[in-house]
Amino acid sequence: MIHVTKTFFPPIEEYQSQIKRIWQNQWLTNRGALVQELEEGIETNYNTPPLILTSNGTVPLQIALRLKGKRGEVITTPFSYVATTASIVWEYCTPVFVDIDPETFSIDEKLIEAAITPNTTAIMPTHVFGNPCDVEAIDAIASKHNLTVIYDAAHCFGVLYKGNSIFSYGDISTCSFHATKLFHTGEGGAIFCGDKDLFEVIDYSHKFGHDGPLEFKGLGVNAKMSELQAAMGLTVLPYMDNIISHRKKVVGKYMELLDFSILKTMKIRPNTEWNYSYFPIVFQTEAQLVVVEKALQDNGVIPRRYFYPSLNKLPYVKEIKMPVSEKIAKTILCLPLSHEISLSEIARISNIINSAL
Ligand SMILES: *Cc1c(COP(=O)(O)O)cnc(C)c1O
Repeated sequence: MIHVTKTFFPPIEEYQSQIKRIWQNQWLTNRGALVQELEEGIETNYNTPPLILTSNGTVPLQIALRLKGKRGEVITTPFSYVATTASIVWEYCTPVFVDIDPETFSIDEKLIEAAITPNTTAIMPTHVFGNPCDVEAIDAIASKHNLTVIYDAAHCFGVLYKGNSIFSYGDISTCSFHATKLFHTGEGGAIFCGDKDLFEVIDYSHKFGHDGPLEFKGLGVNAKMSELQAAMGLTVLPYMDNIISHRKKVVGKYMELLDFSILKTMKIRPNTEWNYSYFPIVFQTEAQLVVVEKALQDNGVIPRRYFYPSLNKLPYVKEIKMPVSEKIAKTILCLPLSHEISLSEIARISNIINSAL
């Protein structure tokens, strides 16, 4: 069976030697040496703003929304993983959906201003599949209206835009290091923030508000990454360049072999150094998708309908039409893409798809 993704397992000996350090330190959590080393490794290797590692990729969204959403209206994308919308509702904010661009699949920046009301507190788009939103336009709208920009950058490990880490745009960016993501710590995530004062609030908020063992700076929650998670991250991190370059070849092969007179794929925003995190294809109709998905499954290939449904269709949000997002959600399929998949497997998969079409 070939699945849409395959978690990268580094050599077990290398993982064991990181785990051994934990035993030597006799220290399992509360911002231990491995967590701090992984934070530094990510910040220096990828030139990111300062970051805090977290227990998963959802809790940083919740912290950002708690601090900056303030139970107001949050402008967001309907085309993302459910965590984006769910976090907004979970933090007692109201999601205000703005439809997406049909080529890049990210929020249509031209429609944002019309959605702003006196109750709007923040804009929270997703750089979906690691493809940057129009960050300049969004940041300009946010400054004009004095709104906070929180990017759900869960898919963006390693992405550069105009030579800068994508995490350096907006007020806050979050990332996920879940096992299915490009870079992973089993479960895990991070929150990036270049503003010193806001960073400090995020920092104490993610560890119960602690300022040393006896003092508290403010209210907080537990979003800490453990040393066990960081050990996986430190073991995987040195492989990331190889992982990304193999995935680039895989995507190149799909691009070469698939029949793009019928299919479409995502248009990567110019000036982007992409991370090849997902390979979505878009069919003309849902019926076409269903036929191809079935043909793949019959041959032991399991793609995924990322992302379905369009998030404005969730049972806990107010019904509103998002024609572009709904159309894309119904006709998009993510094809297998991993460090282990071979180019001959890509040829086989492409053949099955082209013949089914
Ligand atoms: C994976 C994902 C998340 C959540 O991350 P977890 O680490 O699974 O909590 C949030 N947003 C998007 C867009 C995601 O794909």
